[in-house]
Amino acid sequence: AVSLVNCSLSFGDVHVLKHVSLDIYENEFVSILGPSGCGKSTLLRLMLELLAPNPGGKVVYAAAKPSIGIVFQKPVLMPWLTARQNIELTLKMGPNKKKLGKQERREKAEASLELVGLQDFTNHYPHQLSGGMQQRISIARALAADPTILLMDEPFGALDEFTREKLNFELLRLWESPTTSLSSVVMVTHSIQESVIMSDRVVMMSPRPAGVEDILTVPLPRPREVGMEELPAFYQ
Ligand code: ATP
Ligand code: MG
Repeated sequence: AVSLVNCSLSFGDVHVLKHVSLDIYENEFVSILGPSGCGKSTLLRLMLELLAPNPGGKVVYAAAKPSIGIVFQKPVLMPWLTARQNIELTLKMGPNKKKLGKQERREKAEASLELVGLQDFTNHYPHQLSGGMQQRISIARALAADPTILLMDEPFGALDEFTREKLNFELLRLWESPTTSLSSVVMVTHSIQESVIMSDRVVMMSPRPAGVEDILTVPLPRPREVGMEELPAFYQ
């Protein structure tokens, strides 16, 4: 779906990535693990073409550029818009914007908020919601535009354990569902457990500068088990 080819990146004389090549295939869920500051967010920014690699490297997309959903490390929401309006705005103006009528945008926004369990908070403003709830809005917003690739930078880092498990489960269900357009997921995480539960493949980065030889890929067997049954009923 997207490939980094021989990508090096430095900020001034700080070398973050050294000749990194990484292929993200269709229909795979990849986790990226690595110590703080090793360049995980930088890697995602390269994939998003928010940063360009040093000369000699390139980012290659599958024939038709896929639509990409992104969840940043910290939620970035418009404070003057409600949860629903934040999502509607992205559907109207965002990079994957859709030709939808007002009513359709509203329905899509509400459906994606329901997906992350925020159906009772559609008219709340970001400051009226906890940090974890704001992050769930960012996740809902990324999913609302039906992306084929979802890039997430520690999406669940700020969430409590229960919500995290619930969202892990929802995300897997969504990704495995034949009715969504979602094909590849790349998730940066600090949780080894989460990466094992969620992904087909874990990409582990060494402290910077991470070079090709420092990026280790570990394939994982399926199916994975996410124990939703063990959660209290009110959480399911
Ligand atoms: P964390 O787990 O803490 O989020 P990370 O793996 O995502 O860390 P990056 O944010 O990719 O790390 O940063 C990698 C390195 O690049 C860090 O050493 C950081 O200081 C440096 N860096 C990142 N962005 C810039 C920038 N715009 N200018 C200068 N240096 C930067
Ligand atoms: Mg980061």
